[in-house]
Amino acid sequence: MTVGFYGHARQYHNLKAEIDEAILTVLESEQYVLGPTLTRYEQEMAEYFGVKHAIGLNSGTDALWLPLLALGIGKGDEVITMPNTFFATAEGIWFTDATAVFVDCDAKTKNIDPDLIEAAITPRTKAIMPVHLYGQCAEMDRIWAIAEKHGLAVIEDNAQAIDAAGAGFRACEKSDAMGTSFIIQKNLGTFGDGGAMVTNRDDIAATVKKLRNHGSPKRSCHSMGYNSRLDDIHAGILSVKLKHITAWSDQRRAIAAKYTAALSDCTNVISLPYEMPGYRHVYHLYVVETLNGKRDEMLKFLNENGVDAKCHYPIAIHQQEGFPWGKDYRVHGSIANAEFNAANCVSLPMFPELTDAESDYVIAKVREWVAANA
Ligand SMILES: *Cc1c(COP(=O)(O)O)cnc(C)c1O
Repeated sequence: MTVGFYGHARQYHNLKAEIDEAILTVLESEQYVLGPTLTRYEQEMAEYFGVKHAIGLNSGTDALWLPLLALGIGKGDEVITMPNTFFATAEGIWFTDATAVFVDCDAKTKNIDPDLIEAAITPRTKAIMPVHLYGQCAEMDRIWAIAEKHGLAVIEDNAQAIDAAGAGFRACEKSDAMGTSFIIQKNLGTFGDGGAMVTNRDDIAATVKKLRNHGSPKRSCHSMGYNSRLDDIHAGILSVKLKHITAWSDQRRAIAAKYTAALSDCTNVISLPYEMPGYRHVYHLYVVETLNGKRDEMLKFLNENGVDAKCHYPIAIHQQEGFPWGKDYRVHGSIANAEFNAANCVSLPMFPELTDAESDYVIAKVREWVAANA
């Protein structure tokens, strides 16, 4: 048996009639860029996220970068985040020429450790960029309190966590803005690239709307900007998929619960994901860590036995080799948890369309490896 890491084609086949119709409707409309399908999808997103503004962009990376620009963050400023995330989190900061300041993650959640943030704040700190890693919200209630005390902006990296929630808070509820990604492998993905920035702030929304379209608030009037729009075809596809996101998250959570129950006696050899009490973790990824230092062997065993397990992310950002254009970063204190995670993480197959037989097989192979390496 082989078990893949993604179920993109299965998801397409389940929704084929609706998705095909959405694409063909845009094709016939002759309005492909900044058209009515995008406008409608932006309204649906704003409603879905419970925010005032949602702005479709060409990627999740731009959805982090453009609100930082809109806040006037640039050279000499510092933005606090964590190093055990996808590289784009830091790129969003570096595109503004600001300094990325990395603090460690919590050993259990792998999200930024709120206890470490205050000590990393300097007079240059302008913002905190928490990441909702693997599909679980960072401890936003604590992060908002720190940001308020020190007068800092908060931009959430929600690329992995659409439909997640905290205990008593919603993502972006008190943040200045939040960026999300619609690249195909995310929980809500289109057949290509896409992203969105959502915000309750009218000023950030107005600036990002201009920045995504050559600094143009209306035809032929420009200030400096970029080209970063979500196409109407993608908006049409995403509008179909948005209706299913809650059901898909529930399926991911059910598969995660099955993995966790079936592997609960393996925790002498591998750690299992930790759910914050009361949080809705949507399991973009189901990540275990080897505790015996044999991660590469575990990955090789699973791959050779037909299980397409992967690593997210085997090289933490501060461990990457060299940064182009002299981008600046600082590591604050020990980041041992992030480095342990990079050295030991293994992501098991996780997507809503994963069948029972497939998850049974994954469990059997993980158990087989654990028994042989206990
Ligand atoms: C995917 C991802 C991004 C970037 O999104 P793109 O759409 O690929 O630009 C940013 N941050 C995190 C945590 C991600 O997983």
